[in-house]
Amino acid sequence: MIEANILIIGGGISGLSTAWWLAEGGARPEVWDAAPRLGGKIRSHSESGYLTEDAAGILMNFHQEVDQLVEASGLSDKKISRGTDMRRYVVHKGELRPVPMKLPALLKYPYEQ
Ligand SMILES: Cc1cc2nc3c(=O)[nH]c(=O)nc-3n(C[C@H](O)[C@H](O)[C@H](O)COP(=O)(O)OP(=O)(O)OC[C@H]3O[C@@H](n4cnc5c(N)ncnc54)[C@H](O)[C@@H]3O)c2cc1C
Repeated sequence: MIEANILIIGGGISGLSTAWWLAEGGARPEVWDAAPRLGGKIRSHSESGYLTEDAAGILMNFHQEVDQLVEASGLSDKKISRGTDMRRYVVHKGELRPVPMKLPALLKYPYEQ
């Protein structure tokens, strides 16, 4: 028997955070996803001492709700501040390529080199 009063299709970060906020407001949301795991694009892999992310690895907390969600979900102590020497790479055509960390450079970043 379904006890939810709101059904959310898609259990990526959008669906999961929506469900969390709705539950905070007293609703009973249920999240359905076509995939066998929740998280959508976001997925972490740990291999040979390296942690890699399939998608989001950086949290932009321009809005206070982001901090609120992180704190209320008990993840505050997992946050790592961005270091000045932080580097980001993507695997493109089987090769690891550095990605510019500043937005203007990123927008001009040539993927075909
Ligand atoms: C390489 C990369 C790096 C990124 N880096 C960052 C970053 O550093 N910071 C940042 O903020 N963002 C980053 N992003 C973007 C961020 O990861 C995505 O915007 C975010 O994960 C999208 O979440 P979502 O819930 O909207 O969608 P998704 O994660 O795509 O989730 C959608 C879910 O809906 C399900 N679904 C779809 N159709 C159906 C259906 N018909 N029925 C049931 N279920 C369905 C899917 O299975 C999936 O689980 C990055 C993305 C990529 C690809």
